Amino acid sequence: MSDQVLAARFFDAVQMPGLVAAGLVEDGVQHLRRTYVRDAVTNPVALRQLRVWAAGEFAGKPCIGCDEAIGDDDQVSPTVAMGDDGPQRRWWHNECMMLGIVGHQYGVCGCHGFDKSRASALELRSRLQATAAAGQYPAG
Ligand SMILES: [Zn+2]
Ligand SMILES: [Zn+2]
Repeated sequence: MSDQVLAARFFDAVQMPGLVAAGLVEDGVQHLRRTYVRDAVTNPVALRQLRVWAAGEFAGKPCIGCDEAIGDDDQVSPTVAMGDDGPQRRWWHNECMMLGIVGHQYGVCGCHGFDKSRASALELRSRLQATAAAGQYPAG
């Protein structure tokens, strides 16, 4: 698999279909996709991260959002966090990452009694899917 194909598959996987369908992040995703696909062949750090993702090395590691173990089939996004021994590769469930970005917009946040748990993230996913299915935008 070429580095560009690897990068393109990564971004296909990390897109939240509901968000893209709702038109909320399309510009951002396209920008990130262009940047990441470009960086995958020019930036060795980005390329290494993509290869780790492709190898599924996130399975069983705790999500940086909900702290639950990430499953083989979960969609994930890589990040780097400061640990006791310096920077460490960490992972988000995609839904847990999106919770902090659009959780409030979809009513899945502390204002509405939700915490930062996996259950809240999955509630956000179902609301995103319902929004996409209805072809509607959130009230804001
Ligand atoms: Zn999570
Ligand atoms: Zn809120």
